[in-house]
Amino acid sequence: MQGNDIGMRDCIVVGAGAAGMSAALTLVRARRSTLVIDAGQQSNLAAAGIGGLLGHDRRPPAEFYAAGRAELMAYPSVELCRGEVAHGVQEDDGSFTVTFSDGRRERARSMVLAPGMNYRYPQLPGMNERWGHSVFHCPFCHGWEVSDRPMGVLAEGAVGVHGALNLRAWSDRITLLTNGSELTDQHREQLAVGGVSLDERPITGFDGPGAELRSAVFADGGELLIGALLVKTTLYQRSTLARDLGASLTEPDEMLSVEAIKVDAMTRTGVPGLYAAGDAATSVPPSMAAAVASGYLAGAAAAVQLAAGY
Ligand SMILES: Cc1cc2nc3c(=O)[nH]c(=O)nc-3n(C[C@H](O)[C@H](O)[C@H](O)COP(=O)(O)OP(=O)(O)OC[C@H]3O[C@@H](n4cnc5c(N)ncnc54)[C@H](O)[C@@H]3O)c2cc1C
Repeated sequence: MQGNDIGMRDCIVVGAGAAGMSAALTLVRARRSTLVIDAGQQSNLAAAGIGGLLGHDRRPPAEFYAAGRAELMAYPSVELCRGEVAHGVQEDDGSFTVTFSDGRRERARSMVLAPGMNYRYPQLPGMNERWGHSVFHCPFCHGWEVSDRPMGVLAEGAVGVHGALNLRAWSDRITLLTNGSELTDQHREQLAVGGVSLDERPITGFDGPGAELRSAVFADGGELLIGALLVKTTLYQRSTLARDLGASLTEPDEMLSVEAIKVDAMTRTGVPGLYAAGDAATSVPPSMAAAVASGYLAGAAAAVQLAAGY
């Protein structure tokens, strides 16, 4: 990666994950000078493979990102730059200036935000080291790899019931773990009808060899043998960048994201010249396929705007 003072570009893309690189590829193929700035923390780097991305199914994420960077670098009008955008502002002429955390500044006539999100889940001992392997948030991404194991679902209330019933596609031995919180009678009945077990005991942690999971351990000293754990996860903006630039964020959504950047069907944020794609935006459910698709839309929308000169 490189990156110096490069003057006014057509577009700055913040983030070189699936969304940002897809946006950049679209822009450079429209012959737009594009600076991609990336801090190198793509969300799924912890996972062994990408589940469910056509053409790349089960490919190690780092390999996918390296291939994306190589594809981009074949075009003359792109520059990939390692760094973190600390601040952004829209100037009076409509262009954008970004300031890196090391003080560098860059400018462009348009901007695509593709910074991904912070995935947060309950911090119980034994979860972080298994995250993306036997502990995961998305059954469509990782369910296949742990099919037919006894599985736990760590979540409360209706979200937990929904997650546990959904997980039956991958195993018929599912236990909803509420970690001390109690379910309503209606929820208990739904689980019973669906053949899902319930354990409401407080949990002290999870155990197992390496990245594998063997059991959930309870505060009363008991344990439950499980080979995988689906955990309710909430996505948060990684920084205040979108807000600083005047984009609107959503209110909390009980299922998944809080603070997603509001965009229309063409990834426009409502701030002229500012687009948002991938996990960080409302347009998509979090997944690699959706990130690639929305990145493409953002790149195309920015290129059309640049060509039209507004
Ligand atoms: C553990 C895990 C496993 C997953 N597995 C799968 C799977 O198997 N299949 C699937 O479809 N989906 C999977 N997902 C979801 C998938 O990874 C995301 O939907 C996808 O990565 C979103 O792409 P993105 O480009 O929006 O964000 P990211 O991939 O997170 O990329 C954003 C990039 O922007 C950078 N960035 C952020 N802020 C700044 C800044 N201020 N300045 C510069 N750079 C910045 C970040 O460092 C990062 O490199 C998984 C998620 C997790 C957490």
